[in-house]
Amino acid sequence: MDLRRIWTLRESSHRVHNPITADKLAVLGRALRLAPGTRALDLASGTGEMLCTWARDHRVTGTGVDISTVFTEKARARAAELGVADQVGFVHGDAAGYVADTPVDLAACVGATWIGGGVAGTVGLLGRSLRPGGLMLIGEPYWRRTPPTREVVEGCHAGSEDDFRTLPELIGHFGDLGYDVVEMVLADQDSWDRYQAAQWLNLRRWLDRNPDDELAAEVRAELSTGPVGYARYTREYLGWGVFALMSR
Ligand code: SAH
Repeated sequence: MDLRRIWTLRESSHRVHNPITADKLAVLGRALRLAPGTRALDLASGTGEMLCTWARDHRVTGTGVDISTVFTEKARARAAELGVADQVGFVHGDAAGYVADTPVDLAACVGATWIGGGVAGTVGLLGRSLRPGGLMLIGEPYWRRTPPTREVVEGCHAGSEDDFRTLPELIGHFGDLGYDVVEMVLADQDSWDRYQAAQWLNLRRWLDRNPDDELAAEVRAELSTGPVGYARYTREYLGWGVFALMSR
């Protein structure tokens, strides 16, 4: 099992595979006031930027799990580059159902709540790895503006309006699940651009080098229509944030 190759092409230059920047990730790390030695589990860890930089900046330790072989290799290389390979490790595998052997202080799933079948399921999954009083991090989209039409829903790559909540609804949902929201760092349109617009140059450069690849037509189509669609839909209608939760 592996992540589809097109994702690794789109996000080949990305260290953070979500609409928050490295700066916002650092803001979050500081906001959480992590004690040195904090043990973390990061499900769907991507290329490992959160664990690696927090290991460097806050002496966090722990494990990331991701289904992409390419991203997992990059995460290991990043840990070595930052000199934290003895603090954090990356496992290639399916994070759905993954539970830590020993309860952790910080359990995260940033931008991949499908691994638990949605927000509630992922909160439940992470809760099984978290020690009492520990911090949970969930990264999740929300509607900035309620989508007025089916066209907008589909333009945001959602199956239905119910795929996401508005920000107050999402925060309320965490409460309904028995958690206090104790911190949050939200994307803005500029940080969305750093995630989304940065994909276009990756794809264009790749296409120029690989015109005969089996994915070339798909990449060409995405370059032709993606930027307008993003400007019309995602950038206007979809927000995104990382929410820190503690069980009540
Ligand atoms: N949290 C990281 C990556 C988010 S992108 C960051 O913020 O940078 C979503 C990630 O989910 C990708 O790295 C993808 O490979 C991973 N993923 C998707 N399905 C998965 C699964 N079932 N188990 C583990 N990882 C998964």
